Amino acid sequence: MIVLRRFMNNPLRNFNYLIACEETRQTIALDPLDGEGMVQLAAEHGLDIKLIVNTHEHHDHIDGNPAVQAATGAPIWAHKNALGKIPNQAHGLSAGDVIELGTLRLNVLFTPGHTPVHLCLLAPVSERDNVPVLFSGDTLFNACAGNCYNGGNVDTMYDTFVAQLLPLPDETLLYPGHDYMKNNLAFALDREPGNAMAGYWADQVSAFAPDDMPVMTLGQEREYNPFLRLHEPLIRARLKEQFPQLGDGDRDVFRALRSLRDQW
Ligand SMILES: [Zn+2]
Repeated sequence: MIVLRRFMNNPLRNFNYLIACEETRQTIALDPLDGEGMVQLAAEHGLDIKLIVNTHEHHDHIDGNPAVQAATGAPIWAHKNALGKIPNQAHGLSAGDVIELGTLRLNVLFTPGHTPVHLCLLAPVSERDNVPVLFSGDTLFNACAGNCYNGGNVDTMYDTFVAQLLPLPDETLLYPGHDYMKNNLAFALDREPGNAMAGYWADQVSAFAPDDMPVMTLGQEREYNPFLRLHEPLIRARLKEQFPQLGDGDRDVFRALRSLRDQW
């Protein structure tokens, strides 16, 4: 599998992706924002865009669809609940579907929370790729979870984390929909000041350009991402200072973290 990631240099700090089969060069354009740029990038690498996939319906994940479609004729696929919300969507995907393109195999995960229609793509271990790869859209970010204030629901997001994301193996590579890593690591350190890995990575990436941000594994994320560290005593203790009524459930901790991150 070939993965090309490009930073969009927009205020929302989107990443665009091309996901390609090495043998046939058939390619998925994931969440195109700069459609013409993605078409050009594909041409530069000898890739043939056959399919557009949108993780969800927000404009910064679909605005490049028309340009990609005009240049390539590729159909637009997204979750079935997005039908009617994403212009020109040709097919509605469901949890458990497998997108096949050349040697590519991408499992569709239904991951609502950021919006009710959100999906993630999971490339499982294969003969060619020895680690799983997760394209997480706006669900899981480096050092954070996606927001829930533009059509989302934090309880649904929590359920998605527990049921879909936490079970994934440590070696899974994470490709999120935005670059918020520096800011998210600052938030992680604010929640857990002594976290050595959060400090290490904040230092490492401080001078990095967005296109050079490291691709982290879920195992690494579990070392500093507060939304994957709900049992951490320090995180809970600091939340209790601000939310004396905070319950002991993981869901309560997740909700409190998300509300603090909304104001960060
Ligand atoms: Zn979004």
